[in-house]
Amino acid sequence: MVKMVDNNGYYSDFEAKKWICEIGRRVYNKNFVAANDGNITVKCGPNTIWATPTGVSKGFMTPDMMVKMDLQGNVISGKHKPSSEVKMHLRVYNENPEVKAVVHAHPPVATSYAIAGISLEKPVTAEAVVLLGTVPIAPYATPGTQEVPDSIAPFCKNYNAVLLANHGALTWGRDIIEAYFRMESLEHYALMLMYSNNIINKVNELNCNQIDTLMGLREKLGIKTGGVPPCKDETTNPLKGKNELQAKEELIETIVRKVTEKVLENMKR
Ligand SMILES: [Zn+2]
Repeated sequence: MVKMVDNNGYYSDFEAKKWICEIGRRVYNKNFVAANDGNITVKCGPNTIWATPTGVSKGFMTPDMMVKMDLQGNVISGKHKPSSEVKMHLRVYNENPEVKAVVHAHPPVATSYAIAGISLEKPVTAEAVVLLGTVPIAPYATPGTQEVPDSIAPFCKNYNAVLLANHGALTWGRDIIEAYFRMESLEHYALMLMYSNNIINKVNELNCNQIDTLMGLREKLGIKTGGVPPCKDETTNPLKGKNELQAKEELIETIVRKVTEKVLENMKR
């Protein structure tokens, strides 16, 4: 993997602007945004970020369009205005100093869950549990207002992503690739949940033992955030459920057979 940050742990201006354009193209090509939706920021110093400008498609950006800001929201350089949604990025950086990049998009399946008001926490694959974690949902807030950063603030320290009710999704990471990959993982996870819950109509969730193992693995990878998904004890695994159902059916069959035998016996008398 390419070295993301310089020796001080922050992006150089050149790298920051280049990477924002690259990730913008990917977000756009992946259909995570339509038209001018979405925004991307990276941290280039303890109190400074580079941000995408307002009113520009993320698929068609060049480095000269970027805006440099401080974490209080003041523009330091750049000829464009920053997006009004940059307020929630600033809030993530202010709440969690470990974050070096933030991505906001409207990926259609994850956003549909956000519209339904459903947070994503079912443990269904190891990758989603370890690399993304559970995804809470922030209450609806009017875009561009102070309510938006306030709505996400409680989740910035302990999670890696949040759904924005009736709006979209926000992910962050220790570099821009991690933040972007979390957006990819989020949409992929939402898509699998939709298929398994609503199309295949059967979900075998990971049990608590399996979750414990994955939590250990996550710790080894140095990821301390993502929450712990709710899990069911092994004893409630679907195979046991199946055996119980089979046993019940067999019992009913036996009873029916015995009753029938009795009825036939009575008729013979
Ligand atoms: Zn948005």
